[in-house]
Amino acid sequence: MAHTMTKREGEAAPPSRGAIVALDFGKAWDYAAAPESPDHVSIDPKYGLFIGGRWVTPRSGRFFPTINPSTEEVLAEVADANAQDVDDAVRAAREAYDKYWSRMRGADRAKYIFRIARAIQEKARELAIVESMDGGKPIKESRDIDLPLAAAHFFYHAGWADKLDYAFHGRRIRSLGVAGQIIPWNFPLLMAAWKIAPALACGNTVVLKPAETTPLTALLLAKIIEEAELPPGVVNIVTGGGETGAALAIHPDVNKVAFTGSTSVGKRIQRAIAGTHKRLSLELGGKAANIVFADAPIDQAVDGIVNGIYFNQGHVCCAGSRLLVEESVHDVIVKKLRDRMATLRMGSPLDKNTDVGAINSKAQLARIRELVAAGEEEGCERYSAPCPVPEKGYWFPPTFFTGASMSSRIAREEIFGPVLTILTFRTPDEAVEKANNTSYGLSAGVWTDKGAKIFYMATKLKAGVIWGNTFNKFDPTSPFGGYKESGFGREGGRQGLAAYLGVE
Ligand code: ADP
Repeated sequence: MAHTMTKREGEAAPPSRGAIVALDFGKAWDYAAAPESPDHVSIDPKYGLFIGGRWVTPRSGRFFPTINPSTEEVLAEVADANAQDVDDAVRAAREAYDKYWSRMRGADRAKYIFRIARAIQEKARELAIVESMDGGKPIKESRDIDLPLAAAHFFYHAGWADKLDYAFHGRRIRSLGVAGQIIPWNFPLLMAAWKIAPALACGNTVVLKPAETTPLTALLLAKIIEEAELPPGVVNIVTGGGETGAALAIHPDVNKVAFTGSTSVGKRIQRAIAGTHKRLSLELGGKAANIVFADAPIDQAVDGIVNGIYFNQGHVCCAGSRLLVEESVHDVIVKKLRDRMATLRMGSPLDKNTDVGAINSKAQLARIRELVAAGEEEGCERYSAPCPVPEKGYWFPPTFFTGASMSSRIAREEIFGPVLTILTFRTPDEAVEKANNTSYGLSAGVWTDKGAKIFYMATKLKAGVIWGNTFNKFDPTSPFGGYKESGFGREGGRQGLAAYLGVE
């Protein structure tokens, strides 16, 4: 939209912008630091496990530190649950299921879930700050995306709790029992909401294990659940690493396992529980393609691409890490992308002007570096934004590669970092072939002026979610999930409810 400044009568003339435009653009528009203050945020020095409505010391006796990846400072010590702790949590969840939750009317379950939703809204600022401190994502993102969506998921599912019969009209439904849920570090609180809200709405009780690098917001959510006075044991939060997750997944009294994380761990879980009665849903890796046709609104597409990969440091399993552009617009897109990337601000996740935050962990940074080095060795051309890199913490500047082939590792492997691989195509069918030529199938984006082309592509692309002229947009009413090695089962919408119910 063209922006014009009109002068009203009696008003002073607006200051001329001519002089500013003539200056060095980057410097003239430098922002002063605008940090969100963490002063009013309370993080306990040490967290136990939230089991049966109480905070308990882990039987393991072990704790591990969770750190701020942008400063490498320890934020808190967190319990490292062992198999016995997990067993306690599952027992508590079973008891709560038998005694309270499975017997409660849907309308009453809804009241508790609404309470959680409202408390998340009330504490949104604190939760967003903790999310950014523990995970490294910019406050802009945790404040404007993670928190509103987490609250929305609880509101949405609270609405379903007393209407499940209508969701599956004419069919008999039943809750499943105890849900064991394991989540990753990319959207810590939002993933907890995606998992807990539908499970509770459908009458199941929960044992949730957050990722070891980002446990804090799940623990704050446990406090919210405590304050909302849910019956003890309806939600239990156990912290720990892979072994804790494995113990939860294979526990014989867990009826449903819901996992979001890497494809390799997803496969391991699937193998471990094969042949048991457990229901399973997996939301695994992705290597999303953003497909840009020559007739697309190019500036809008460039912004969508940047948004889809760099703002969240590529930390989204559906991050648009492959860019497929129609050959005739390749050069112009590469130029615009480079210009746009030069304006991105990388730095403190708590600064409201920060676009690109820290990489979640040292291990993740090492993985990104390794794959980028492989891209260079394979002869692909690399461009990295000229962002100054802070001394402390884990950082990687927004980067893209051109000249890659479909067989390059950077074009095939999930990277989970702010790294984009640009490939070209000549026809819609070639774009489809290249986009589908991956073992994943979580999401894709199509940018074109023609609605019919979006629909054509959507029918051909093997991806669970396809965005048209936008990217990375989520809504609790819209089911999300993958094809192929990106997993199975849907989260969100009516389809997401089915993952937590027996429907006969
Ligand atoms: P990423 O590579 O994205 O960190 P992971 O799949 O390793 O993803 O981790 C996702 C979640 O799975 C984390 O909570 C992690 O602790 C947990 N996890 C890791 N290994 C296992 C396992 N063998 N069984 C169950 N959960 C696991």
